[in-house]
Amino acid sequence: MTGEWQDLAACRGHDPKIFCKDGQKGSYQLAKRFCAVCPVIGTCLEAALSEEGATPRNFRACIRGGKTPEERHDIHMGRRPAPAARLVPA
Ligand code: SF4
Repeated sequence: MTGEWQDLAACRGHDPKIFCKDGQKGSYQLAKRFCAVCPVIGTCLEAALSEEGATPRNFRACIRGGKTPEERHDIHMGRRPAPAARLVPA
Protein backbone atom coordinates (compact mmCIF):
# COMPACT_ATOMS: atom_id res chain seq x y z
CA MET A 1 0.00 0.00 0.00
CA THR A 2 1.30 3.42 -0.90
CA GLY A 3 -1.63 5.49 0.33
CA GLU A 4 -2.46 6.47 -3.24
CA TRP A 5 -5.88 6.14 -4.85
CA GLN A 6 -4.50 3.37 -7.06
CA ASP A 7 -4.32 1.16 -3.97
CA LEU A 8 -8.12 1.07 -3.97
CA ALA A 9 -8.49 0.35 -7.69
CA ALA A 10 -10.73 -2.57 -8.63
CA CYS A 11 -8.30 -3.41 -11.44
CA ARG A 12 -5.32 -3.66 -9.09
CA GLY A 13 -3.57 -7.00 -9.56
CA HIS A 14 -5.60 -8.03 -12.59
CA ASP A 15 -4.26 -8.69 -16.08
CA PRO A 16 -3.64 -5.32 -17.78
CA LYS A 17 -4.62 -6.90 -21.09
CA ILE A 18 -8.21 -6.72 -19.89
CA PHE A 19 -7.90 -2.92 -19.88
CA CYS A 20 -5.39 -2.38 -22.68
CA LYS A 21 -5.96 -4.30 -25.84
CA ASP A 22 -2.84 -3.08 -27.61
CA GLY A 23 -4.74 -1.47 -30.44
CA GLN A 24 -7.06 -4.39 -31.02
CA LYS A 25 -10.69 -3.56 -31.55
CA GLY A 26 -12.60 -4.81 -28.58
CA SER A 27 -15.70 -4.16 -26.59
CA TYR A 28 -13.90 -3.61 -23.28
CA GLN A 29 -16.98 -5.12 -21.63
CA LEU A 30 -15.01 -6.98 -18.95
CA ALA A 31 -12.91 -3.91 -18.16
CA LYS A 32 -16.03 -1.78 -17.87
CA ARG A 33 -17.47 -4.26 -15.36
CA PHE A 34 -14.42 -3.76 -13.15
CA CYS A 35 -14.69 0.01 -13.47
CA ALA A 36 -18.41 0.00 -12.67
CA VAL A 37 -17.70 -1.20 -9.12
CA CYS A 38 -14.43 0.66 -8.63
CA PRO A 39 -14.44 3.05 -5.65
CA VAL A 40 -12.00 5.42 -7.35
CA ILE A 41 -13.60 5.64 -10.80
CA GLY A 42 -14.00 9.43 -10.62
CA THR A 43 -10.40 10.00 -9.56
CA CYS A 44 -9.17 7.59 -12.21
CA LEU A 45 -11.07 9.40 -14.96
CA GLU A 46 -9.89 12.80 -13.72
CA ALA A 47 -6.29 11.58 -13.79
CA ALA A 48 -6.68 10.19 -17.31
CA LEU A 49 -8.28 13.36 -18.68
CA SER A 50 -5.65 15.51 -16.99
CA GLU A 51 -2.72 13.43 -18.23
CA GLU A 52 -4.07 13.08 -21.76
CA GLY A 53 -5.12 16.69 -22.22
CA ALA A 54 -5.60 17.32 -25.95
CA THR A 55 -4.00 14.04 -26.98
CA PRO A 56 -5.48 12.92 -30.33
CA ARG A 57 -7.96 10.06 -30.23
CA ASN A 58 -5.59 7.60 -31.90
CA PHE A 59 -2.86 8.17 -29.30
CA ARG A 60 -5.05 7.36 -26.30
CA ALA A 61 -5.06 3.82 -24.98
CA CYS A 62 -6.81 1.51 -22.56
CA ILE A 63 -9.89 1.82 -20.43
CA ARG A 64 -9.44 4.45 -17.73
CA GLY A 65 -12.10 5.71 -15.40
CA GLY A 66 -14.61 3.43 -17.07
CA LYS A 67 -14.18 5.17 -20.41
CA THR A 68 -12.69 4.00 -23.68
CA PRO A 69 -10.05 6.11 -25.45
CA GLU A 70 -12.76 7.32 -27.82
CA GLU A 71 -15.11 8.24 -24.99
CA ARG A 72 -12.38 10.20 -23.17
CA HIS A 73 -11.51 12.06 -26.34
CA ASP A 74 -15.15 12.95 -26.82
CA ILE A 75 -15.38 14.23 -23.22
CA HIS A 76 -12.31 16.38 -23.78
CA MET A 77 -13.76 17.80 -26.99
CA GLY A 78 -17.10 18.50 -25.30
CA ARG A 79 -18.92 16.07 -27.57
CA ARG A 80 -19.95 13.87 -24.68
CA PRO A 81 -21.12 15.09 -21.27
CA ALA A 82 -18.59 14.82 -18.51
CA PRO A 83 -19.60 12.51 -15.68
CA ALA A 84 -21.15 14.22 -12.67
CA ALA A 85 -18.04 13.50 -10.61
CA ARG A 86 -16.19 16.10 -12.70
CA LEU A 87 -18.56 18.79 -11.51
CA VAL A 88 -17.81 18.24 -7.83
CA PRO A 89 -14.95 20.40 -6.57
CA ALA A 90 -12.05 18.53 -4.99
S1 SF4 B 1 -11.90 3.06 -12.81
FE1 SF4 B 1 -11.31 1.20 -13.91
S2 SF4 B 1 -9.29 1.60 -14.77
FE2 SF4 B 1 -9.68 3.14 -13.18
S3 SF4 B 1 -8.76 2.35 -11.32
FE3 SF4 B 1 -10.91 1.70 -11.33
S4 SF4 B 1 -10.98 -0.32 -12.29
FE4 SF4 B 1 -8.98 0.60 -12.77
